[in-house]
Amino acid sequence: MKDGNNQQKVAAICDSCGTVYAAIERTSGSIQPIGNPNGCCDGAGMTILSDTGTVGKPESES
Ligand SMILES: [Zn+2]
Repeated sequence: MKDGNNQQKVAAICDSCGTVYAAIERTSGSIQPIGNPNGCCDGAGMTILSDTGTVGKPESES
């Protein structure tokens, strides 16, 4: 659902450990890994790999 929030789904990599996440880039510029509300490594930044734009349903949905 979209509530007028300009949140962009992106692929992002943890600057600390190199783990790649599907993430949400918020309008504030912060990057929120999906399913990891506390982020990855504490205090580590994340770098956007690519914008995925509008994403469809997760393939794992059953
Ligand atoms: Zn990490």
